[in-house]
Amino acid sequence: MEKDSNGKNSNRKLTRRKFIVKGDLWLLLCLLGVLAFHFFAARERKAEGERYAEITVEGQVDAVVSLSEDGVYTPARRPAVQIQVRDGAVGFVHSDCPDKICVHSGFLSTPGQSAACLPNKVVLRVALRKGQPVDSVTY
Ligand SMILES: [Zn+2]
Repeated sequence: MEKDSNGKNSNRKLTRRKFIVKGDLWLLLCLLGVLAFHFFAARERKAEGERYAEITVEGQVDAVVSLSEDGVYTPARRPAVQIQVRDGAVGFVHSDCPDKICVHSGFLSTPGQSAACLPNKVVLRVALRKGQPVDSVTY
């Protein structure tokens, strides 16, 4: 009986092994597919464009600042307002407004996000520029 079951076992093992090998192959292919997808998706995302911050004062574009270069920007017409780019994010770091809502908005990094200093009429907006990298502002 033991012999019999042993034989059955090894038989079963053999079939199971074959199945696993076949399954492994599919798993490997799936994994490769997923990896390739992520790889190309990441490349696509990188090629999508460069993030930049558009700073408007009184509704007029005052500056376009690349988020890939750290620095501090002060609009010429608003010397009391300081906007900083840090680690790919941008935000108000200083303002003479009474509420400081702009400073409390923190740092933005996602295209479409915006922050504003209403008393100073300064608006900060993160956007994505496709294609060529933006000309960065010299501070
Ligand atoms: Zn403010």
